[in-house]
Amino acid sequence: MKKFELTSEFLIIPDSHNKDCCYVYFPIKSLIIKGNKDTEFFLEHFKSKKVIETKNRNHIKFLTILEQAGVVNGEPDKDPGPFTYDRPMPTGVTLIPTNRCNLKCLYCFNNSEIKGSDLSEEIAYRAVDLLVKNALEQSKKQIDVFFHGGGEPTQNWSLVMSVINYAKEVAANNNLSVRFGICTNAICGEETMMDIIDNFESILVSADGKPDIQNLQRPLHNGKPSFPVLERNLKLLSRYKKRYSIRITVSSHHKNRLDKDVEFLCQQFNPTSIIIEPLHECGRCVTTSCQPMLPENFIEEVVRCYQVMEKHNKPLQYSGSKLQLTNRFCGTAGSNFFITPEGDVTACLEVTRRSDKRSKVFFYGYYNNESKCFQFDLDKYRNLASMRVSSFEDCKLCFAKWHCGGDCLAKAPDSESIGKIRNPYRCFVNKNLIKYQLLREFNKKKITLKPISYGSTRFTS
Ligand code: SF4
Ligand code: SF4
Repeated sequence: MKKFELTSEFLIIPDSHNKDCCYVYFPIKSLIIKGNKDTEFFLEHFKSKKVIETKNRNHIKFLTILEQAGVVNGEPDKDPGPFTYDRPMPTGVTLIPTNRCNLKCLYCFNNSEIKGSDLSEEIAYRAVDLLVKNALEQSKKQIDVFFHGGGEPTQNWSLVMSVINYAKEVAANNNLSVRFGICTNAICGEETMMDIIDNFESILVSADGKPDIQNLQRPLHNGKPSFPVLERNLKLLSRYKKRYSIRITVSSHHKNRLDKDVEFLCQQFNPTSIIIEPLHECGRCVTTSCQPMLPENFIEEVVRCYQVMEKHNKPLQYSGSKLQLTNRFCGTAGSNFFITPEGDVTACLEVTRRSDKRSKVFFYGYYNNESKCFQFDLDKYRNLASMRVSSFEDCKLCFAKWHCGGDCLAKAPDSESIGKIRNPYRCFVNKNLIKYQLLREFNKKKITLKPISYGSTRFTS
């Protein structure tokens, strides 16, 4: 009799080409086994028992292979993290300098207009001071200051530059380094673009593809084309050999052409990577009728784009199908420290206005003008920090869970279901794209593999 204990979690990835086959995935141990229904049956039985003792030579042979792979009689699985403090201790901030924007994108989640509110210098400076204090307390060497929309950060450029100068000064005074990042539409003057080139290490440009689709989906606020300015500025980034990413929002307009848009952007502007995200119907979509692509079509398009990017030897990212392991989708669960133009602290970049019903979940603090510091609602912070994939009942048996992390909390069907119900569109896309990537790695044998077919003997003990 030999005794075996199942020490790692496994999840079943169905084989869409052969109903009798499946892949058994041990995510934390990065092991995939190709098996059949008997393999699945045997392992499910093993899971229900946790420990089995057997004399059956076939079983012993199979279980010994699993033992050698470290999933049986091995180290118990560890949660892949990341973990956070039980109160906000940010050493990075994302400032939303304004909710004004110079474009009128068909799908803008924020409905940004030419007019709107701007973040004050005082609030931005105090956010930087808080990062410095926390970095010193945690013996960290670096703080991070990022600028993002709401609106378009370059529309409040004097604030951005003054925060950069202030952060450089206070960081240097405290022997810290500071890293700057920006997410921009890159529709700005040449001088502003040169500031970006000179000051930012992390640059993300939102752009949607060839001129026709860029001008259609992302026109200037007066309706004129935005491509000519975008083209000039992306060429500047490329000329100065800046590392930067382009983010494409994929709508039904990209059907049967997304790979060509990706190819065009790579050839013309040489970005370091491309990020693609399916349009989430909200904000201005209500008035423009801009629609997402059907999820099946989106998956097909993305798979073609992987091939384009492989040819260019550049990564293609979609937020829901990362290969790294994580217990959460994004920093909303315990890390994000984002400041809205009104001085509210939000954990989500898509929820930046008090009028948004989701703010009751995502807003967890504000800048107190009297005490001149940030005040946090710890219950709200802790509630957000707990929204991780291991606490989502409907993710429990999903093979994609440690990659997807339970998906974007802001894409829940409504404000009442944040952290409770997944978005079915994204869930379907995530599972398919994670499966595609895992099996691609499996076939390249990059993941430790022990392909085995358990055979037709049923486990009967
Ligand atoms: S919850 Fe979703 S929209 Fe909000 S910050 Fe995270 S990824 Fe972005
Ligand atoms: S959101 Fe969907 S794809 Fe992601 S872990 Fe949960 S069930 Fe899986």
